[in-house]
Amino acid sequence: MASNFGNWQEALDNLVKETVVSENWSEFDLLKNDNSRIQFILSNKSLMNIEWLKVYLDNSKLFHQKSSHKALEYKNKGNQYFKKKDYKTAIQYYTESIIHAPVDEGQDLALAYGNRSAALYYLQYFQECLSDIQLAMDAGFPEESFYKLYQRRSQCYYGLKKFDMAESELLKAREYLDNQKALIGDKKYDNLLKEMKELELNTIEQKKVKIETPVDIKCLNVPCVSYGNSDVITQASSAVDIKYNTQQGRYLVANDDIKAGDTLIVEKPYSSVLLPDHYTTHCHHCYKQLTLTVIGCRRCTVVRYCGNQCQQESWTQYHNIECSYIDLLHSVGIAHLSLRTILTAGLQFLNGFIKDNKDIHTNNIPGLNQEKQYGRDYSTVYNLLTHSDEMTSLDLYQYSLTATLLLVILIHSNWFHKDKDMDITTKRHNHDSATNLIQNKAAVNADKLPSKSKKDSLDFSESTSNIDDKKALDGTCGTGAKHKMNSPSNNQEPNGDYNKNELKTSAKYVDALCLEESESEVICNNILGNSHEDDNSNVKAQVALSEIGIDKDMLNIGGLLLRHIQQLVCNAHAITELQASVDPLSSSALVDEMSQVRVATAIYPTASLMNHSCDPTIISSFQGDLLVVRAVKNVEKGEEIFNCYGPHFKRMIRSRRQEVLKTQYFFSCSCKPCTDGKKDDVQFDAMVCGKCKGCIDTQLDVPCCIDCGERESIHDRKIREEINTLYQHAMTSIDHSDLKGAMESLKPCLELCNKYLHENNRLKASVEDSLARCYAMSGDYKKSLKHLENSIKVTELLYGNQSIELAYELQKMADILFNVKKPEKCLQIVNTAEEIFLIHFGENHETVKELNEMKVCLLEFINAKH
Ligand SMILES: [Zn+2]
Ligand SMILES: [Zn+2]
Ligand SMILES: [Zn+2]
Ligand SMILES: [Zn+2]
Repeated sequence: MASNFGNWQEALDNLVKETVVSENWSEFDLLKNDNSRIQFILSNKSLMNIEWLKVYLDNSKLFHQKSSHKALEYKNKGNQYFKKKDYKTAIQYYTESIIHAPVDEGQDLALAYGNRSAALYYLQYFQECLSDIQLAMDAGFPEESFYKLYQRRSQCYYGLKKFDMAESELLKAREYLDNQKALIGDKKYDNLLKEMKELELNTIEQKKVKIETPVDIKCLNVPCVSYGNSDVITQASSAVDIKYNTQQGRYLVANDDIKAGDTLIVEKPYSSVLLPDHYTTHCHHCYKQLTLTVIGCRRCTVVRYCGNQCQQESWTQYHNIECSYIDLLHSVGIAHLSLRTILTAGLQFLNGFIKDNKDIHTNNIPGLNQEKQYGRDYSTVYNLLTHSDEMTSLDLYQYSLTATLLLVILIHSNWFHKDKDMDITTKRHNHDSATNLIQNKAAVNADKLPSKSKKDSLDFSESTSNIDDKKALDGTCGTGAKHKMNSPSNNQEPNGDYNKNELKTSAKYVDALCLEESESEVICNNILGNSHEDDNSNVKAQVALSEIGIDKDMLNIGGLLLRHIQQLVCNAHAITELQASVDPLSSSALVDEMSQVRVATAIYPTASLMNHSCDPTIISSFQGDLLVVRAVKNVEKGEEIFNCYGPHFKRMIRSRRQEVLKTQYFFSCSCKPCTDGKKDDVQFDAMVCGKCKGCIDTQLDVPCCIDCGERESIHDRKIREEINTLYQHAMTSIDHSDLKGAMESLKPCLELCNKYLHENNRLKASVEDSLARCYAMSGDYKKSLKHLENSIKVTELLYGNQSIELAYELQKMADILFNVKKPEKCLQIVNTAEEIFLIHFGENHETVKELNEMKVCLLEFINAKH
C-alpha cells in the first residue's frame, strides 16, 4: 500500500493531471455556474478512481471509536500517579480515560469522572471537582459508592466556605454509607464514619464563626461597540455605514467622526472551525483553552469540549454529521469551513433560501435582508464575493472536486434525509431530540459493521490542502495554518450500539432509517464506483444524475458548497489567540515573548465588508470567537474604513504587497502607501554601501545601493550571510535553553551588524532585542536595558509611536525597570504602553489588566518612599 494512501490533496493532483489532458477539460472550462460544475464532476464520475475513498467511507464509523480497554488502561495509569500524589499527571490520564470511555455502556466513564474529581479535590479545585462529581453521577456512577461522592462534595463546599451545603451533603453521605454498611465491612465503615463526623464537627464549628462568603464575580465583560449598534449593520457601531457601488463593491464608511480606540464592530462568526493542531488544547466548539475538566464527544475520541453545553450544541449543529469523517475533513483544509457553513444553515432553511433567493433582486445592497438589515443571517454569507471570474479553471476544477467530496460526505451521512426523518418522528414521538435520532442511526450502522476494522491498512499521512495554502493571508495574521490529518490510532475495537434502549422504543423508525441509509449507500456507490470491480476502467461514461440517485436538492447543496469554498479563499478570517511562546529560557516571567497564534478559521460577514489598505484604519482582536474591531486612528466623517488583509506597508515592500494582493485577492491595491509615489523605506533592510556609505537594499532580488547603484559585493553578501547564520545559531541555542551559547553567537553578530548594517536595520534591532533578553535572563538588567533601548528606537521608527509593536517592547522595558527598581521611570513607561494597548485592545485585554496591576504596585512603592 502506498504510504500516502488516503491523502485528498494527492488524489486532487492526480485527478487534475488526468483531466487536463482529457477531452472533457475544454467542456469544464466553458461552464458558467457552480451547479453545472458539480454536475460535470458527478456525471463524469470523476471521483471513481480514488480507490481509498470508498473504503474510507465504508469504514468511517469505525475510526476513533471509544474503547473500554483503553479507558481502563488510562485510568490505571492515573491511579498510579494518584497514589504518588502527583495529582496533575493523574488528572491528565483520567481525562484520557474519560475521552476513551464508551458513553451509556459500562461504568468506565462514570468511574473516570469520579477519580478525576478526587484528584481535583486534592489540588483544591473545588468548583471543578463539584462539576466532575455531577458528571460522574449523570454517567451512572455505582450507587453503592455514592457515599464517596457525597462526602467529597461536602468537603468541596467546606473548602468553598459554604458550610450549610457542606452539612446537607454530609447527611446524604451518611445515609448512603449506612445503606452500604453490610457491604463495606465494620472496620471500614467505622473509619469512614469517624472521618465524616470530624468533618461535621469542623463544619459546625466554622458555621459559628460566620465567615462572610465572598461573592464570586465573574468579570467577563462582553465588549460592545461605541455609540450603540447600527440599525442597518446590526453587529457594527452606529458610527459606521454600509455603502455600495459597482467599482468598490460594498464598503464601510464613517458616518460621524471616529476616534482612535473606538470599537467599530463586535461580531460573532456565522460559522467557524477549530484548526486540527489545537484539537487537544482547545474546546471544539467555543475555542476556549481547555482547563482541567475536559469532556469528550459522545462517539469519537478526537474532539474535546470545555463542558456539557458546548458538547451538546456542537453535536446538534454539526458534529453529528462530521464526527465519522473527521480525518477526511482535516485533509480538505479550509474547505471544511464550507461544509460547516452548510450544516450551520441546515437543509430545510437552505432549500427555502434557494427557492426564495431567485426572486430577490430588489435590494440595492447585496446581503441586506427583507428588513433592510445586514446581520447574522445566511444571506450575508451567501453574498460574499466569490471571484469565480478571476479564478483559473484549474483552481475552480480543484474546488469543484473538493465540493463534490463534501457533497458525497453529506449524502453518505444521510444528512439529506435527516430533516425529513425528523418531521416523521416529531409526529410520532414528540420528545425525541435530534441527538437521539442520530444515535439511533449510528447504532444501526454499528450493527452492520464487520467486527474487524480495515482501517489499519490506511495510512493517513500528513497532508496540506492546496486551498488552505492559497489562503495564507488574512486580515489579522499572515501565517497559513497547515491542516494536518490525524492518524487514526490503532487497536480500536469496534464498539456496538450505545443506546440500546432508544433502539427498542422506536423499532419502526429504525426500519425506516435502514431503508434511507441503504439509499444513501447506493448513491455513494454510484458516485464512487466499486473499486474492486472497476480497478482498471478509466472509461467515464457521462451519466444522468437522476440515474445515480442525485436529486435537485443535492445538486443545489453541491453548488452552495462550491460557492463557499470560492468565497473562503478571500473571506476566511483567522481567529487568533495571544499566547506566550513556549520559551525554555524564560523561567522567570520576565521578558515573555508573546505571539498571535492562529487557532480557528471563521466567516465574519460584517468584517468582510471592509476593503483593504496597506495602511489600515482598524485592528482586530478576539475574545474566544468574538471578533472585536477597533479604530487605530481618527477617521473623519465620510471617510472609508479599511482593514489590512495581510500585507502591511510597514512589513512588506510595495512590489511584494501588490503581488500578494493580486494573486490572492484579485485586485491591484491603490491605497495611499501604494500610490503616493514615495520610495519604500529601505533603511530597515539595508546594509551600508562600501562605496558611498549609502543604503544597499537587501530586499531586492539583486541587492544594490539605492544611492550609487553599486551592486552588493561578494564580501558584503558573505557578511550578510554570516550575520544571518550567527543569528540563527543564537535562536537555536535559545530553543535548547542554552543561554551561554546564545550570547556567544549574539555578541559577534551585533559587532558585524554595527559595522555593516544600516543603523535602523530591523535584523540589527532583533539582535539587540535578543541580547536584551539574554542579559535579563542572566540577571544583568543594566546591560539588558541598554540593548532594549537600541531596539526600541528602531521599532518606533519602523512601526510608529502608536504601534502595537512598540507597546510590546515598552512592556518589556517596564519589566526590566521594575527589576532594577526605578519605579518613577517604570511608571512613565507603563503609562505610555498602556495608552497604546488601550487604543488597540480596550480595557478588557489581559495585557492592560496586567499593566494596571503593575501600576498599583508601583504607586504603593513610590508613596512608601516619600
Ligand atoms: Zn466550549
Ligand atoms: Zn465525535
Ligand atoms: Zn496598498
Ligand atoms: Zn553606494
